Amino acid sequence: MSTPDLFANEPPAPWPPADFATAVLDWFDHHGRKDLPWQHEPTRYRVWVSEIMLQQTQVTVVIPYFTRFMARFPDLASLAAAPLDEVLSLWSGLGYYARARNLHRAARTIVETHGGRFPDTLAAVEALPGIGRSTAGAILSLADGQPLPILDGNVKRVLARCFAVDGWPGQSAVLKRLWQLSERCTPHQRTGAYNQAMMDLGATLCTRATPDCAHCPLAARCQALHQGRQRELPAPRPRRTLPERRTRMLVVRNAAGAVLLRRRPASGIWGGLWSLPEIAPDNDPAGWCLDRFNRAPDTVETLPGRRHTFTHFVLEIEVVALGLIAPETDVGEDGWRWSPPEERTAIGLPAPVADILQRL
Ligand code: SF4
Repeated sequence: MSTPDLFANEPPAPWPPADFATAVLDWFDHHGRKDLPWQHEPTRYRVWVSEIMLQQTQVTVVIPYFTRFMARFPDLASLAAAPLDEVLSLWSGLGYYARARNLHRAARTIVETHGGRFPDTLAAVEALPGIGRSTAGAILSLADGQPLPILDGNVKRVLARCFAVDGWPGQSAVLKRLWQLSERCTPHQRTGAYNQAMMDLGATLCTRATPDCAHCPLAARCQALHQGRQRELPAPRPRRTLPERRTRMLVVRNAAGAVLLRRRPASGIWGGLWSLPEIAPDNDPAGWCLDRFNRAPDTVETLPGRRHTFTHFVLEIEVVALGLIAPETDVGEDGWRWSPPEERTAIGLPAPVADILQRL
């Protein structure tokens, strides 16, 4: 790389980018993770699925989901041909379901516009639903060795600390600076290994709460370590209080133990997943039952509620169970179903709903 002045004004010592990359790669050769399921046969398809699953989710959580996903959808064609419901059911519990919907939409886009072959240029990959610049760079560098930089949350943390970049990475000026650093540090040789190493470093050594600087290959010239600011950097998102919303979920059960479910609209929270019917907290569940089934419930019971935090608000869920001994079996409309207990692991349910049903 030809930017020897990159670190010149950043104490404790100038560090040519090539040396930075060498330190990272040496560490990777000795300590990096090389046996993750998606590192075997790292095709663009497999790397893509793993990268999407790994967004906001730890490796240990992702491994069983990835394994099940690949067993069911071993290639892009099988994913594109599957109903969305099946994709969502395999995603159930991972959260952030927009990722699964985008994955499915992108697979269909690739079949329609790229003849079923995963594209191999940054512009084409970035244009797919749910894929940003960093994920596109990761797919093409890990699968094909293309010399593209990445900047996921782990890499942002390592770079922000190594170069003492102040400010919250969500701000565009900070993000721009971090991209610049990533571009300049990323080597043109062994780019896939370097990117994997940076992600591993952030996930295993340079962790958010307890960075293990004693074992870090970048410690000698890490600005945050030198300044004793490891825990301050990167700056957290400015604090704000999340607004609270309330809802009342109804667990309507028939004598056979089947529960009434309703499919959520395709967009919005839990889009496309099956969930419990909801009413406003001040609405009467028995009245709802009368309207819907033309009969009052045989039993009404308040169950323990739940609190679920989304990125933009907190949802307070009250839960009321209604027993119906002999309801109409026909629920009348598309998007409603009586779900027997054995079916519940096979359909996509939001995590709090799956939890409520499991506790019944
Ligand atoms: S020395 Fe510490 S703070 Fe700096 S990159 Fe390594 S683990 Fe992170």
